[in-house]
Amino acid sequence: MSIKWKVSLVLCGLAMIIGIAAFYHNQQASGTEKKKVEPDASYKEVEIVTLVNDGRYLRYAVNYPVFHQKKLDQEMKRFAETALDKFKTSFSEASDVDEDHRYELNIDYEITHYAKQTAAIKFNTYEWKGGVKGAHETKIFNFDFKKQQFLSIDDLFLSKKKSLQKLSQMTFEELKKDRSLAENEHLLKQGTSPEAEHYQYFAIKDRFIEFYFPAGQIAPDKKGPQVLAIKKTLLKGMLKPEYINKEKNKNEKKEPIAKRKIVKLPKQGGFNPNQKAIALTFDDGPNPSTTSKILTALKENKGHATFFVLGSRVQYYPDMLGEIRKGGNEIGNHSYNHPLLTRLPLKQAIKQVEDTQQIIEKAGGFTPTHFRPPYGGTNGQINSAVNMKVTLWDVDPEDWKYRNSQYVANYILTHASSGETVLMHDIYDTSANAAVTIIKELTKQGYQLLTVSELEQWKEARAKKVN
Ligand SMILES: [Zn+2]
Repeated sequence: MSIKWKVSLVLCGLAMIIGIAAFYHNQQASGTEKKKVEPDASYKEVEIVTLVNDGRYLRYAVNYPVFHQKKLDQEMKRFAETALDKFKTSFSEASDVDEDHRYELNIDYEITHYAKQTAAIKFNTYEWKGGVKGAHETKIFNFDFKKQQFLSIDDLFLSKKKSLQKLSQMTFEELKKDRSLAENEHLLKQGTSPEAEHYQYFAIKDRFIEFYFPAGQIAPDKKGPQVLAIKKTLLKGMLKPEYINKEKNKNEKKEPIAKRKIVKLPKQGGFNPNQKAIALTFDDGPNPSTTSKILTALKENKGHATFFVLGSRVQYYPDMLGEIRKGGNEIGNHSYNHPLLTRLPLKQAIKQVEDTQQIIEKAGGFTPTHFRPPYGGTNGQINSAVNMKVTLWDVDPEDWKYRNSQYVANYILTHASSGETVLMHDIYDTSANAAVTIIKELTKQGYQLLTVSELEQWKEARAKKVN
């Protein structure tokens, strides 16, 4: 045998060994998929398909149900397999897979509701591709067995636009009551705004419709996903009649209902658009003794007001914010320490407002939407940078100058009229006493005492009536 041949043979052998080793290595790295089909523990006619793989670097467990309902089953299988294929592809394309960078996928489902009329199947997906955190995802399918179709929020309601408006109002009002969720009121408002995608995850139960909000939609990510159940009878006139009927859609098994639920309609904005209204506003606080006096008078007369606070003072009295909000009052931003903002470099002016927002958020757990510049001094640049509503005033009794309760009270009572905003300062005892007088008197005269946000809604409601 020639040398050439010998070399060729050795090379061939080496290639084979490398090939086999690589095959076993890959095999070990990616593993072998096993499939099993078992009955679902809760529903005997439903089966669970499980695809498991326990490779060294590639692991997954994918579950999906089989209802023996062709159209529904196809979609369940398609959903699970599509996610799995995508995951496998990203694994095969990855070049840096190792012990610290394994690939894991977990898809699990939960039959949230199962009745003759409809079923709701919730899939929870968890994917980890190395790194600190994996990705969680939730998806809910609603299937109507009679109609043989999957249901979106549009299929549930008679008028999409009206229903979304109503859902948005109901959910926001309800969730706002929970201080831990309302930590970032801006996010809550955004995440509950009347858009179909915000209400796309739901389950029709016999007496309730449950809505699911993924983590990060209505509250900071760390709070996790949220569920809210709304009693169907509150959705009468909105929900299609076939989904109102509770008998038709009764689950044979007892279904747990979300802890957080709405069983009563919220009061329409808490005001009557046909009745006159005024917004009292108090600047430069909080100041415990005087602010509390005003709060008590508001509570006794079922009125609301707005307190434009200074960041520097909130730092001293953070607990006052909770006291103010408890009565349904509003808190606005009045800068950090009261400079004339237009005289400051733009950056510093913006910082005055932004620092105060953060201080209020930290102390009170919510984000003000209204801003009142000290001395009413602001400009377009400042306003567009802080991106808040600027609230000035209509009636100014100059209570900082006239430290006389009777004078201040009289001035307001003779100058203010419906739809107007009154400026006062809750740091002076004379002003607090004047406030107590006018709160009583204006209420007696039939005025509703509203926050600045409520007064805006009140104006909107009246404008709609005229058109
Ligand atoms: Zn001021």
